[in-house]
Amino acid sequence: MERPIYMDYQATTPVDPRVLEAMLPYFSERFGNAASGGHAFGWEAQAAVKRAREICAKVLGAEPMEIVFTSGSTEGIGLALKGAAESCLQRGRHIVTCATEHPAVIDTVRHLAARGLEVTWLPVDREGSIDLRQLAAALTERTILVALMAANNEIGTLHPIADIGRVCRERGVLFFCDATQGVGKIPIDVRRDAIDILSFSAHKLYGPKGAGALYVRGKDPPVRLAAQTQGGGQERGMRPGTLNVPGIVGLGRACEVAAEELSTEAARLTRLRRRLHDGITRGVAGVALNGPAEKRLPGNLNLWFEGVDSAALMMEMKEVAVSSGSACASTEREPSHVLKAIGASDRQAHSSLRFGLGRMTTEWEVDRVVELTVRAVRRLRESAP
Ligand SMILES: *Cc1c(COP(=O)(O)O)cnc(C)c1O
Repeated sequence: MERPIYMDYQATTPVDPRVLEAMLPYFSERFGNAASGGHAFGWEAQAAVKRAREICAKVLGAEPMEIVFTSGSTEGIGLALKGAAESCLQRGRHIVTCATEHPAVIDTVRHLAARGLEVTWLPVDREGSIDLRQLAAALTERTILVALMAANNEIGTLHPIADIGRVCRERGVLFFCDATQGVGKIPIDVRRDAIDILSFSAHKLYGPKGAGALYVRGKDPPVRLAAQTQGGGQERGMRPGTLNVPGIVGLGRACEVAAEELSTEAARLTRLRRRLHDGITRGVAGVALNGPAEKRLPGNLNLWFEGVDSAALMMEMKEVAVSSGSACASTEREPSHVLKAIGASDRQAHSSLRFGLGRMTTEWEVDRVVELTVRAVRRLRESAP
C-alpha cells in the first residue's frame, strides 16, 4: 500500500532535513558529554549546547540562562506545575487553568489537586476562548499560578497570551504557558507577553522526538521551580541529568528555521487550510468548523461531519493520515474533552476529524485530500440506514 498523505502535524512533525543534518555529527564523532569539563569532547558538546540555548532564547525573546532543556513538553509541563506549586507553598495553593488544556496539563493539575491544591477550571465559549474578566475574577490572594496554552492542539484556538500575561503580572501571579503548538508558528515573546514559564517541544516543530525546553524567567525577580528529579546540577539544578546533545542541537536548529520562515509559512498554511476547508464544504453538506473561523493556528482544521462516525470515516479514507482526537486519547473512544468543552455533544465529538497541515504539505495533497474526504463522506452517508 502507498503511504498515506500526512495530515496530522499537530500530533508530530517529520524532522526537517536541515535539522537532521545539524544533529548527525553529535551522534557519532562529537559524542561528548556536555558536563565533561576536562577535555575537547566535552567542550565540543558544551559549545553546541550553548549555541542551541542562545537560539532558543532569541526565538522567545529570552536570555540564554533562562532556558532549561527537557525531554519534551510533557516533562516541561510537569516540572513547571509541580515545581511552581512546591516552591510557592507558603504563598498559597490555588491554580487557575482551563478545560481545553492538553492532557499533560490537565492530568498534572488533577494530580496536584488530589494532594490538596485548589483548582479553578475556566470555561470556554463555542470557539474555545476564555473570558478575560472570568480569569481576573478567579484570581485570589492564594493564587500562585495561571496555566493557559498558547494554541490549542485539537481545534486551533489561540489564547490572548499578552492579555493573560498582563492580568497575571498586575496581580502578582505566575503565568505558565504551554506553547507546544505555538512556538515557531505564531509570534511569541516572553517579555512582551509577560510569560513567566513556557514549555515547548522539538517534535512539534520539525525537530526530533524526546527534546524540548522550558523557559523559566531568570530575573526581576527570578522564578524558582523545585526540581522534580535529583542528580548532577545540570540546568541550574532544575533539571539534572546528562543532556541530550543531538536532540538539543536539533531543537536549536528547528527553532532557527521556524523563526526564519514563520510569517511566510503562516500565510502559506492559512491559504492551504482555507483551500481544504472550502473544497470539503463545497463537496458535501452538513459540515461545520470546530473552533474559531479566523484567529487560529494556521495549520489546523477540525471539522464536524454531521451523521458520520469519525472512526468509520478514517477507515473509509485510509489514504489520509488524520486524527479523530488528540494522539494521546485517540485509542480510547472517549469523546474529546476539548470538543465537549466547546459545547459539542458526544455524537458531534465522535463525528469530528482533525486535519493538521504543515511544512511539507503541498497544494496537490490538499486537493487530493478534498477529493478523498468528499468521496468517503458521500459513501458513508449513502450506505447509512
Ligand atoms: C504535543 C503536546 C504536548 C506534549 O508534548 P510532548 O513533547 O509530546 O511531551 C503538550 N501540549 C501540547 C499543546 C501539545 O500539542
